[in-house]
Amino acid sequence: MSNTLTIALSKGRIFEQAMPLLAAGGIRAAEDPEKSRKLILDTNDPRVKLVIIRASDVPTYVEYGAADLGIAGKDVLLEHGGEGLYEPLDLGIARCRMMVAGKPDAQLDGRTDRRRQRIATKYVRCAERHFAAKGQQVEIIKLYGSMELAPLVGLSDLIVDLVESGNTLKANGLVPLEHICEISSRLVVNKASWKMKHARVTALLEALRGAVTQQA
Ligand code: ATP
Ligand code: MG
Repeated sequence: MSNTLTIALSKGRIFEQAMPLLAAGGIRAAEDPEKSRKLILDTNDPRVKLVIIRASDVPTYVEYGAADLGIAGKDVLLEHGGEGLYEPLDLGIARCRMMVAGKPDAQLDGRTDRRRQRIATKYVRCAERHFAAKGQQVEIIKLYGSMELAPLVGLSDLIVDLVESGNTLKANGLVPLEHICEISSRLVVNKASWKMKHARVTALLEALRGAVTQQA
């Protein structure tokens, strides 16, 4: 594998939005991951492979060197902690905001009459940090998706979720209440690959940087 550059990314919006950037670096996928069941995709360059994995697994593959590079949302990197990775470039794709949301009349003071407020989220670390910074002791409830449901069925008072247009919140009678941070996808690099494959990694990094600047 030492002659190969492996790039980990998820299918869906990240794959779709990363492909034009990778093309600027001379990398084109041989197959469409939405149509193929393959988890390792060849590219036009025999020395470059793409591995298609869950978005939240990308930092793990890159940290352990199973992939030299990866493309991951800042939300995923914040939750992972980003240890053992370099994060040299904001790709500016898959942009959204991490927000506190809830019913329009929801309180934001951390308490209800009887108890601490409950916050349902997939982003436990980010939520903990956000409410701790406000000096609020809340109860975080870990979910794996469909956070919008939680306030509707009384599982939580608030949610922490990613918001792009706000349409999903709106469709469920919820509103964005508090901004936590801006999210976009980042290029991450394994620390050993950065040293051992320096020329190839930096060549790709600079090509991506150029493509990002042109798209902006
Ligand atoms: P999985 O479906 O495997 O649980 P996921 O839902 O995080 O993972 P995607 O929906 O493809 O996978 O999201 C990948 C990344 O895209 C997220 O980590 C985030 O950075 C970004 N993202 C998520 N939702 C949005 C959105 N509505 N608008 C823009 N970017 C988003
Ligand atoms: Mg999703």
